[in-house]
Amino acid sequence: MPKKYLGQNFLFDPSILHRIVEAADITHNDTVVEIGPGIGTLTKILAGVAKKVIAIELDYELYAKLKEEIKGFNIELIHGDALKYPYEKLEPFKVVANIPYYITTPIIFRLIETRKNLKSMTLTIQKEVAQRIVGKPNTKDYGVLSIAVQYYGEPKLKFIIPKGAFRPVPKVDSAVIHIEIFDKPRVIVADEKLFFRIVKTAFSQRRKTLSNSLSSISKDIKKILINAEIDPNRRAETLSIEEFARLADNLSPSFKLDYKAG
Ligand code: SAM
Repeated sequence: MPKKYLGQNFLFDPSILHRIVEAADITHNDTVVEIGPGIGTLTKILAGVAKKVIAIELDYELYAKLKEEIKGFNIELIHGDALKYPYEKLEPFKVVANIPYYITTPIIFRLIETRKNLKSMTLTIQKEVAQRIVGKPNTKDYGVLSIAVQYYGEPKLKFIIPKGAFRPVPKVDSAVIHIEIFDKPRVIVADEKLFFRIVKTAFSQRRKTLSNSLSSISKDIKKILINAEIDPNRRAETLSIEEFARLADNLSPSFKLDYKAG
């Protein structure tokens, strides 16, 4: 019996599985990490094209069953929690995974945090989350998640998988996204923490103007926005990543002073 609390919605259709592997652009030189191999359908196709697959499965029952089936394959099967795996210790690798719903954003953030040798991620996730990840300014999908991912990489929505392709059938459709990870972030900022604090604060009240939504960050926010050549009456969702970076860099000298004074 699939365990709902572990996000167990399995894919069987070989044509969909092959399209996922194609989207991941794997060669015989690649080490692939698969999160949640489950019954191993995707895992075995990946093993056919990659140098090696490291597959991390939390469910002991599935792990033990798959362990028997993959004897002789170039697959290292690990019983453990993908949220805790030390990815930074691996040689360069690509991630390919049909992510369990309940850990979609935590796993993306964990992979970004430990991205030292991460080349790309090809993820099957809820369609709505995929649309937020690739969201562009001036759309309802654009927000903290879009900026957090697009700061470190280039996400592309590859194709939609209708919910009926999974067993058991989940409530929502999925999408496959491919994220190429940059060697350096898209923009260089003096203070990355401050950059993300501004982004989160601005979007926490996305309907307000920036001079209002960012008033808790600095009492001089209006002046700083003008210095950064950003109209204080604009809203968070209209700003590009480059504009948020410019704002952070204009704010960082005074922010350091405020911070020390406080
Ligand atoms: N790859 C398979 C497929 O495409 O059919 C299974 C995908 S299913 C959506 C997610 C898998 O992740 C399940 O096998 C589940 O047991 C496993 N899983 C859930 N939480 C996990 C975690 N924290 N770490 C590793 N695997 C996890």
